[in-house]
Amino acid sequence: MRIEPLEGKLSLTNDGTLELFFIGVGTAFAKVLYQNNFILVKGDTHILVDFGMTGPVALRTVSGLDVTDISTVLPTHSHADHIGGMECLALMNRYVGTKFMNKPKLKMIVNKEYERVLWDASLRGGLEWNEYSSDGGALRFEDYFDVARPTLKTTTPREIWEIDYNGIHLELFRTNHVPDLSPDARHAFISYGMYVDQRVFISGDTKFDPYLIDMYADISEYMFHDCSFIPSPVHASLAELNTLPDEIKQKTYLMHYPDTWENQPVPGLGGYAKQGYRYIFD
Ligand SMILES: [Zn+2]
Repeated sequence: MRIEPLEGKLSLTNDGTLELFFIGVGTAFAKVLYQNNFILVKGDTHILVDFGMTGPVALRTVSGLDVTDISTVLPTHSHADHIGGMECLALMNRYVGTKFMNKPKLKMIVNKEYERVLWDASLRGGLEWNEYSSDGGALRFEDYFDVARPTLKTTTPREIWEIDYNGIHLELFRTNHVPDLSPDARHAFISYGMYVDQRVFISGDTKFDPYLIDMYADISEYMFHDCSFIPSPVHASLAELNTLPDEIKQKTYLMHYPDTWENQPVPGLGGYAKQGYRYIFD
């Protein structure tokens, strides 16, 4: 893996090498770092994974891109640090991108179950009444988004969805993030992490989940994991991640971490994933 600081504006196309770029690496409460949102790029394909409240500013500031440059988005779960910028993305696409810039309608990678939850519990409040739909009613999810549907790969030992999206292969596994006392992913609210191109594990938001790490450690070249510095009922803590075997720790990079990261050395781990840097998987 090559790690390079971005110079200029992030290109949403490349020579076909898988690339990961964080527009933010902070927690939901970070005030200095932007929230943990990132872009996957490979060939002509890009996928924006999560777009929180800081997303629109982070995208411009860290990557040099505009909201209207984004064509595909993948929300992992409904916390505001992951979807708080989604309304801006949808409105800018519909009322600027497709109207004046000849851009296609936004594509969202989402299964039917999460589409319903995302729309009904979060997005429709700001999106459904901006105009009358063609039949005189409220706007619907499909007025803003075309969908790419992952297919269900397995439900045991946990639910995993799979999609090959224009050359980027994703396994989307359910995580055990919230509520605090949910005993496993099966009983947790919808939340996903991902295994990209059968090479790179990205935890999404999750409690420390050794079973999940076990499933993917041997087959992952690199792992990116969320991290709390203090014990947390909904995120993996640094102390818990430090209990992993050395060979796993060495290839594990932390993300979704607090503003105080510079005071917190992480010996034995790969290090901190950093916003504004390109992680290139040659
Ligand atoms: Zn979360």
